[in-house]
Amino acid sequence: MLDLQAIRTRWNAIRAAFQFKSLSIGIVIAMCAGLLLPAVIGIISLNHLRQEKTNNDIELYLNDKIALLSNSLALPVWNYDINLANKIAQASLQDRQVVRITISDTKHDPILNLEYPERNIGTLHTAWHELILNGEIAGFVKVDLDDGLMIQQSRRDQSIYTYILLGQFTLALILIMLALHYRVLKPLAALTRFSNQLADGDFNHKVGWQRTDEIGHLAAQLDQMRRDLQAAFSEQQAILNNVPAGVIFIRDGVIQLANLHAEAIFGYEQGSMHGLQPKELYLSNDQFMAIRERAKLSMTVLLGRYAEELRLKRFDGSAFWARMSGCGLDPHNPQAGSIWVFEDISERKAAESEINNLAFYDPLTQLPNRRLLLDRLKHALISSNRSLKCGALLFIDLDDFKTLNDTFGHDSGDCLLQQVAQRLTTCVRQDDTVARLGGDEFVILLEDLSSDMQEAAALAKNVSEKILAALNQSYQIDKHERYSTPSIGVTLFIDHNESIEELLKRADMAMYEAKAAGRNTVRFFDQKMQDMLMNRAAMEDGLRQAIIKAEFQLYYQPQIISTGILTGVEALVRWIHPQRGLVSPAEFIPLAEESGLILPLGHWVLKTACEQIASWANNKDMANLSIAVNVSARQFHQADFVDEVLNIIEQTGANPSRLKLELTESMLIDDIEDIITKMTLLKALGVGFSLDDFGTGYSSLYYLKRLPLDQLKIDQSFVRNILSDANDAAIAKMVVALGLSLNLNVIAEGVELEAQRDYLARLGCHAYQGYLFSKPLPLHDLEAFYNEKMRPENKLVS
Ligand code: C2E
Ligand code: CA
Ligand code: CA
Repeated sequence: MLDLQAIRTRWNAIRAAFQFKSLSIGIVIAMCAGLLLPAVIGIISLNHLRQEKTNNDIELYLNDKIALLSNSLALPVWNYDINLANKIAQASLQDRQVVRITISDTKHDPILNLEYPERNIGTLHTAWHELILNGEIAGFVKVDLDDGLMIQQSRRDQSIYTYILLGQFTLALILIMLALHYRVLKPLAALTRFSNQLADGDFNHKVGWQRTDEIGHLAAQLDQMRRDLQAAFSEQQAILNNVPAGVIFIRDGVIQLANLHAEAIFGYEQGSMHGLQPKELYLSNDQFMAIRERAKLSMTVLLGRYAEELRLKRFDGSAFWARMSGCGLDPHNPQAGSIWVFEDISERKAAESEINNLAFYDPLTQLPNRRLLLDRLKHALISSNRSLKCGALLFIDLDDFKTLNDTFGHDSGDCLLQQVAQRLTTCVRQDDTVARLGGDEFVILLEDLSSDMQEAAALAKNVSEKILAALNQSYQIDKHERYSTPSIGVTLFIDHNESIEELLKRADMAMYEAKAAGRNTVRFFDQKMQDMLMNRAAMEDGLRQAIIKAEFQLYYQPQIISTGILTGVEALVRWIHPQRGLVSPAEFIPLAEESGLILPLGHWVLKTACEQIASWANNKDMANLSIAVNVSARQFHQADFVDEVLNIIEQTGANPSRLKLELTESMLIDDIEDIITKMTLLKALGVGFSLDDFGTGYSSLYYLKRLPLDQLKIDQSFVRNILSDANDAAIAKMVVALGLSLNLNVIAEGVELEAQRDYLARLGCHAYQGYLFSKPLPLHDLEAFYNEKMRPENKLVS
């Protein structure tokens, strides 16, 4: 494989070296320009001067020569002594620069002409002179002088001079370059290498020069920088290795730094994560690419942190749950790199899934239990409402289970139930739900059958018959062949009009029809049964009237902490029906929720509770009590819910910190951001929040962490069987542990027995509500209850 890192280092070194080469070349060019150019100009102008001087010299020489010659020739020419004149001229011709001497008489007729034309190698200079004797002209002499020799001599002089100059220049250049190389360039290259090492995080070398010049100063400062960097680096390492989370720094697409914790989380040896590509930490390339895209978006466009819970990969290839969050070092420059924090949340996830498993699956058959079925049914209704496709609910009861159980023992019964569960699962599609309600009751939820009612009924009938056939086959139990038959009741659903409980009731009724028809058969819910549900409509009407006539009253159920102190009450609404007397909310609240009547009713409850808080403010016994008010999903999801609460608080003058709103877990499914916003607004005012029926819904612990809650309320269904059912006890225990870890207080509701309270206390739960202390009471009775049991002198629990 290509070692990109090594190639990059080598390239940087070459580039640095080249920078210094270019510096030396620059210096050479500058020196040439600064020294050589004036020298060349000097030589050229010298050459010019030399020529002028040579010309001058030759003129002077010629003048001297001709003056001398005319003096000595005047007499012989006068006497016409040609012989003597010839001798004198010959003597002058000894001078090798003289090319020709011409002597002429007074009429300019030549008398004597002596010449050496071969001496003419340069330019000829000519001069005339009269030959005068005793004031009279005896004739003329003309001399031609060649300057060749003189010029040759002066050129020779100049060459020597130029060589000396060039020699001096070269020597100077060499000396300066040597000085520059050893004193400047080489040290600079060394300093560059040093700073590159620093940049690569290598703090082991130091410069340590004793120079006092600028370069020495620079070296000293680099050394100081190295010490500072090393100190900062050690500090950073100490911090990184002591934070209780994995920290990874990524730049240029590779991990530049990973602390000990990160190495431990991902199972790498110390130091071995450096240089790793981040995609190695992901389960697949696709996962990596998807996360990278999302992270890029939130870092560069939204300029924020990116956080996610996901499964990642350890060095040994195993997967684990992690919480990861990251941010860019410089949001405007992605090249600056990013820093990532990892937390191993495997244990939390395992606890979460264990809770879910215990809470949502039947331990015997591993089928969804009633809770999960109800949840799925709720979603099925919503989606059927949207798709306008019919679904069906099949209620299956084994005909002779009790006999088999009693005759052959529970183990055989369990074995049969497991086989039934298995066969039921094979009779339906993957997306359908097979649930066990308990005992020998199973429910199957078929979704998306058809938009045509008739066709849907036919499909549901097919499945039912398939089930009949499958369950009629013999069962192998303890090496014996046993037989069992089912009775099946079917009801169809298409929209939201029926409540979940009603649907189940209808299927149940149809199942009883099947039993009545001789068992081992299928029956559909029919019109006769439908009529019975007409009561419901009547009740809805009554409820509407009741709201107009204000036939409601609030009851208060005490909430007590383990020291026996009454800390608050839960407000529970009662319908004082003119004919039926007191009607339980369990009967009319679901109806009010479906019909929307919960909005005016909920408003009344909230207002009444707040008036009570305001009124207790003046009563020293009750002033500290909080009132918990149940809020329905529909009510809470109203856009103006926060305003409604604010208005009520303002109108009644109630202290908001005495008000606690009970939300149910099941309402946290959708639009979690809106829920958080509303809760945060109210919380800022002092209003408290309790999560009711906790453990029965399917809330992710991740979301739970984000909600500004004060309290978790263990659902009474777990408390009821806490002493007998290990599953329920385990859930209660888990809720208390969860409350502790999220820093929430935990209250148990439906506490009827001292043993239950003691058990809960051992788990660490210290607040209770239930019949053990008191049923919900009308206001007057509540005040009496306080006076009788809660006054310090007659405390209920100690
Ligand atoms: P919830 O909020 O879970 O209230 C607790 C229910 O358990 C109350 O029933 C209470 O009377 C009952 N309970 C308390 N202690 C014990 C006990 O020790 N043993 C048993 N077996 N039961 C106990 P209630 O008053 O019939 O209310 C039923 C449900 O109606 C409430 O359940 C709540 O969901 C709803 N509800 C009541 N009042 C209101 C209201 O004002 N607004 C809304 N939205 N819902 C309300
Ligand atoms: Ca409640
Ligand atoms: Ca509850």
